[in-house]
Amino acid sequence: MSEQHQNLAIIGHVDHGKSTLVGRLLYETGSVPEHVIEQHREEAEEKGKGGFEFAYVMDNLAEERERGVTIDIAHQEFSTDEYDFTIVDCPGHRDFVKNMITGASQADNAVLVVAADDGVAPQTQEHVFLARTLGIDELIIGVNKMDVVDYKESTFDEVVDEVNQLLQQVQFNTDDASFIPISAFEGDNIAEPSDNTDWYDGETLLEALNDLPEPEPPTDASLRLPIQDVYTISGIGTVPVGRIETGVMNTGDDVVFQPSDVGGEVKTIEMHHEEVPKAEPGDNVGFNVRGIGKDDIRRGDVCGPADDPPKVAETFQAQIVVMQHPSVITAGYTPVFHAHTAQVACTIESIDKKMDPSSGEVAEEDPDFIQSGDAAVVTIRPQKPLSIEPSSEIPELGSFAIRDMGQTIAAGKVLEVNEK
Ligand code: GDP
Repeated sequence: MSEQHQNLAIIGHVDHGKSTLVGRLLYETGSVPEHVIEQHREEAEEKGKGGFEFAYVMDNLAEERERGVTIDIAHQEFSTDEYDFTIVDCPGHRDFVKNMITGASQADNAVLVVAADDGVAPQTQEHVFLARTLGIDELIIGVNKMDVVDYKESTFDEVVDEVNQLLQQVQFNTDDASFIPISAFEGDNIAEPSDNTDWYDGETLLEALNDLPEPEPPTDASLRLPIQDVYTISGIGTVPVGRIETGVMNTGDDVVFQPSDVGGEVKTIEMHHEEVPKAEPGDNVGFNVRGIGKDDIRRGDVCGPADDPPKVAETFQAQIVVMQHPSVITAGYTPVFHAHTAQVACTIESIDKKMDPSSGEVAEEDPDFIQSGDAAVVTIRPQKPLSIEPSSEIPELGSFAIRDMGQTIAAGKVLEVNEK
């Protein structure tokens, strides 16, 4: 096991090979649970297939899927020398965007799977755009199903060109993208360089994953700690709990909670049932602040330094992507916004610009409506006080999901906050 941890998203168009690739990564890194291997080995032997083959496992998975059993590729884990990877929810999974935004499964990096025989497809575009909006740092592009195109270099090059164009359109830094010709099914260039692609001398997929930069904890930023719950504990008093998104909290710090607008000095910080003098990004903490009672603060508040308090928005401007909406969205629409631990009804006060999601350019000023597939810049007015930050300043607190009728209908990032 390695020390460093990475959350990895596997994105790409349906049927381009995401599940197969996850299966392959687990298999090559020895991460398929022993009992699963054992079961498939036994079945394979019984059926005279002899030995345990990756293809046999995947065949079985395919059968399971045909029987309507969902194969959950999320939350699978595997390790390289450098990192322990957790595969986070994939787009298409119902709550992917919501989970990414609320931090439940914020991915650091992503593998984009593009089938060599199909190239850039609609969901390739959508997922790349979402990945960009949601702050994925680096992309590794697996040009998959190379076996289907006879491992032809020219086909690989064509797909690379197509994907590079797409990345430039959404302003992804293409210098940081690596392209690898793979076959998830046959195993080419996953763990070992493949003889079938002797024209390729770059990294295997596992090498590329191992060489990803370490996710840098945002310790230098100002403290932002969204409150998840507030408890009363005898002997201590009021104990808000939550995960530090950015910055550092020390005992003795002067803090405020916004939008509740109360504050005081941090008396104690507790983590894993032990008192600690300070806590950092990623730490789940309970703490106690002098003079704060249970009814003074609530879930959805953000704790920050008194001299650099969390912003409270009168209105804010944001870029959103509409993923699924049965009809059209017009000014005046008031769905529920999920941002960090807050859930607040907000009115889309005006739709300022419609953007072309594939070029990032303005397609229409002041459109009358937007619908599924559209990207837009909108002005939003929270119906109750909401603490939120510009994504350019504190990305961890600068994105949100819009939910209505039990589903995530749009996601966005904050461009500008007009404070109260
Ligand atoms: P997902 O929808 O992106 O998760 O795609 P799947 O992993 O379910 O794959 C879709 C289909 O493509 C399945 O029938 C897979 O067996 C097949 N497939 C996936 N990867 C490869 C590959 O590298 N080569 C070939 N020939 N088929 C593949």
